[in-house]
Amino acid sequence: MTSPTSHSLRAAGLRVTPQRRSILEVMEATDRPLTVEEIRARMADPQPGLPTIYRNLEHFVQQGWAESLLGHDQAMRFVRCRSEGHHHHIQCETCGRTVEVGCCGLESVLGELQTASGFQINRHQLQLFGTCGNCIQE
Ligand SMILES: [Zn+2]
Ligand SMILES: [Zn+2]
Ligand SMILES: [Zn+2]
Repeated sequence: MTSPTSHSLRAAGLRVTPQRRSILEVMEATDRPLTVEEIRARMADPQPGLPTIYRNLEHFVQQGWAESLLGHDQAMRFVRCRSEGHHHHIQCETCGRTVEVGCCGLESVLGELQTASGFQINRHQLQLFGTCGNCIQE
């Protein structure tokens, strides 16, 4: 049996190492973004060094499998991307839960910015913060 994780690793031409699978599994098991230290702490022994995890996360971000989010404490955390299409992550400031939102509506605004700046805009990042439904009810 091939897990979806090892399938996506192979499809991207990345060798499936237990380490890479383990990093993705740690991120898939939670809906909270994790720092590299937190990812390492949740990995089974033998835990790889932090630079190794960073390097793998960089690959994952390039592949669109993960995104780095900057918290209001200025710490960089990583979250697993579950959809392949264009999306952004919205994070609850109360509980830390993060969900993906499938559209941002920025495309037409970016078109105007492109004309005004003379730049070709290749990509954009958007971090959304709010209060999730569970936390609003409490
Ligand atoms: Zn994402
Ligand atoms: Zn919440
Ligand atoms: Zn967008």
